[in-house]
Amino acid sequence: MDNLGTDNNPLLVAIVGSGPSGFYAAEALIKSDVKIKVDVIERLPSPYGLVRSGVAPDHQKLKQAINLYKKIADTPDFNLIANVTVGEDISVAELRKTHHAVIFTCGAETDRKLGISGEELKGSHTATEFVGWYNGHPDYRELEFDLSHDIAVIIGQGNVAADVSRILSKTVDELRHTDIAQHALDVLAESKLKEIHVIGRRGPAQAKFTPKELREFGELSDCNPIVQEQDLVLNDESKKELEEKSNITNKKIYDLFANFSKRELDSNKSKKCFFSFLLGPKEITGNISIEKLILEKNELSGEAFKQSAKGINETIEMDAGILFRSIGYRGVPISDVPFHEGWGTIPNEKGRVTDTDGVIVEQLYTGGWIKRGPSGIIGTNRACSVETVRCLLEDLDKLNIETKKSGAEGIYSILNNKNIRHISFDDWTKIDTEEVKHGEPKGKPREKYTYVNEMLSVIN
Ligand code: NAP
Repeated sequence: MDNLGTDNNPLLVAIVGSGPSGFYAAEALIKSDVKIKVDVIERLPSPYGLVRSGVAPDHQKLKQAINLYKKIADTPDFNLIANVTVGEDISVAELRKTHHAVIFTCGAETDRKLGISGEELKGSHTATEFVGWYNGHPDYRELEFDLSHDIAVIIGQGNVAADVSRILSKTVDELRHTDIAQHALDVLAESKLKEIHVIGRRGPAQAKFTPKELREFGELSDCNPIVQEQDLVLNDESKKELEEKSNITNKKIYDLFANFSKRELDSNKSKKCFFSFLLGPKEITGNISIEKLILEKNELSGEAFKQSAKGINETIEMDAGILFRSIGYRGVPISDVPFHEGWGTIPNEKGRVTDTDGVIVEQLYTGGWIKRGPSGIIGTNRACSVETVRCLLEDLDKLNIETKKSGAEGIYSILNNKNIRHISFDDWTKIDTEEVKHGEPKGKPREKYTYVNEMLSVIN
């Protein structure tokens, strides 16, 4: 047999997950000197992962990453096999037989838990659910969000919390020309919310927003951003943090909070979005639905940049009609793939999957959030996937086994034997075209299909 990675014996790689890290891994493989065939397997009929169903609809610029992904998908060595769940429709053991290597880039699909009583009450939601719902993700299509209350609370001060609270703070006119799902726009149009509270367990110097995202709260057409001046008093360690040149992002965030605290309230605006700090969620109370949130006042302890929040045994009570926990994502295990329960990631060394004792599992690799945890912006995943692909290509000799691999044909034969409908990139393009067409009369970039069977019927 010819050497692996040559025209007659291309390196066959299966990538699980078609979000940014999956596309960046495919790109790095295709651009390498080695002859490659890449099969990207996706659970939904639609590709692009969080760029389609995580990035906020009013942040269309961020979705331009899709233009690059389309170019990658257009190359002859790229193949999409969508509407297929690895671990259910096809096993990892089967993929190890059909391909030389498998890269898991399946993201962090679920949320971290607060672990407090009342978390499961009606009206207490995860950010993932709300984000998936307004972005038209089929998994969240049937969820209901009751916005008939005065007060919404968001726990967490990262960019996902910013997205959730901004969508709640905006008017329908500010959203109607985005690709927000129509069902979500209809519910938001009836929203009675007057107050949105965004709660941080640490201080204003530690909030994890990025300046662009926080600045948008100052530009909302019907919502005042509110920060209490006394909440901006910093301890010495936090002052040190903000003086550090490399910590310019947090300095900008703090300055934006200071700016909000000095703004005059615009009485023509009907909503207020409060940013509060040093408050740790202790309990959510209510009968069937959530009514109140009990928060413990916190103080910071530890040295600069390592400060953690500690309760001071003083609690406050807050009315809350609806609550969103936005405290970070975590990955979901796939059968036959090692998983670190504590971190919610696949254990790995620079992208080479290891078992929980650190021993490398041959043929398996990982990239993106399931590799390193849910951090960074879309572009961060490029460097992450490039590192993984570099390791994979270094391992070429180990992957060069004599047994012939069947690649995509092998996958199709397994799926066809089980009568599993799979979707190609061309099929997806038909769905894509229809979505764009349906969006046009409404002045939207697209109107998404929000049910899998609707997407499949377009191809039929
Ligand atoms: P994140 O940035 O890690 O923020 C999580 C927030 O939850 C932090 O404020 C954290 O506080 C808080 N938190 C964690 N555990 C908590 C607990 N037990 N009780 C109370 N608060 C708790 O996560 P994310 O917002 O989910 O975002 C994930 C990644 O996606 C980030 O890198 C983000 O920048 C990125 N993203 C980017 C964009 C964009 O570029 N527009 C949009 C969305 C997401 P501590 O700091 O104290 O831990």
